[in-house]
Amino acid sequence: MPIFDGHNDSLEMMYVPEAKRRPFLEETDSGHIDLPRAKRAGFCGGFFSIFVPHPDQNGPQAPPGTSQEHSTTQKRSLKPVDFAYAHRLAKKGIESILALESESSREFRVVRTVKEIRSAIEQGSLSAVIHFEGAEPIDPLLESLQRFYDEGLRSIGIVWSRENAFGHGVNFEFPGSPDMGPGMTDAGKELVRACNRLGIMLDLSHLNEKGFWDVEKISGAPLVATHSCVHALCPSPRNLTNKQLDAIGASGGLVGINFAVKFLRKDGEGNPDTPLSDLVQHFRYIADRIGVDHLAIGSDFDGTTVPSEIGDVTGLPRLLAALRGGGFDEEALKKITLENWLRILSLTWK
Ligand SMILES: [Zn+2]
Repeated sequence: MPIFDGHNDSLEMMYVPEAKRRPFLEETDSGHIDLPRAKRAGFCGGFFSIFVPHPDQNGPQAPPGTSQEHSTTQKRSLKPVDFAYAHRLAKKGIESILALESESSREFRVVRTVKEIRSAIEQGSLSAVIHFEGAEPIDPLLESLQRFYDEGLRSIGIVWSRENAFGHGVNFEFPGSPDMGPGMTDAGKELVRACNRLGIMLDLSHLNEKGFWDVEKISGAPLVATHSCVHALCPSPRNLTNKQLDAIGASGGLVGINFAVKFLRKDGEGNPDTPLSDLVQHFRYIADRIGVDHLAIGSDFDGTTVPSEIGDVTGLPRLLAALRGGGFDEEALKKITLENWLRILSLTWK
């Protein structure tokens, strides 16, 4: 069963100045995803994030198991990042992903249409959607948006967990509500309209609640949170309230369930010794509340601490087994692993 994923941070090791480098096309035993392990697990592709850490915070990577989200989050500043710096680093990120594609003999493909995703799956290649986690690389007048689109950008998370020219992200306090900070700026509202026009998917994970409702009012596309969980089960500001879940369902959108133990566990602890049942209950909750058509996977691989029973991408078959055990039948699993993502993308991309 091919599995399409809403979020990973695997690219960071290629363009973030001091991130620890490792190969992607060869198998290693570090990090969560590389091409050989992905293939073995049935991971057929997903959103590959380009994130710009604050330049003061690009220190050596924290050891695995100590992170909140992104491997160096605890040391990472939530301070705003300058446009010029973000723009430069994101361009490097795009260069890295395109270079990876050309080194891979078509085994790793940057995809821009649903048709390209389907044909990559048929040919056993990995699909990568270029995603910006935080719109800092885009100038507030949006002059660079079209250029990034032409280079392959197809998805934007308006904010990471900090403020930018477009809106405000939530922090990682626990317990906490996503209702912190003001709504979208005028530039942010313009960004939503421009993405609707171009056919770029907007990701609401990390956005604060007032910003969420601004997008809900303005956007004509289904609402998507690529890597978030259920606030009623784990009261992190990164998780979605029942009201937000209902709005996502009503828009025909979806939630990609994040594997981060901090967003799964009732106590918000970053403990990898977290049973798969804790992960399954977030899937169950959303299926029961808004329906299985609005449910997907948003692993956050290479950006967070995941349950040790998952371990890395090769643990995905164990998740599928746990979902079967949790009452999801084969038809539901096909939707969760791939078809819901393809529906959203065909409705959103031009
Ligand atoms: Zn994230």
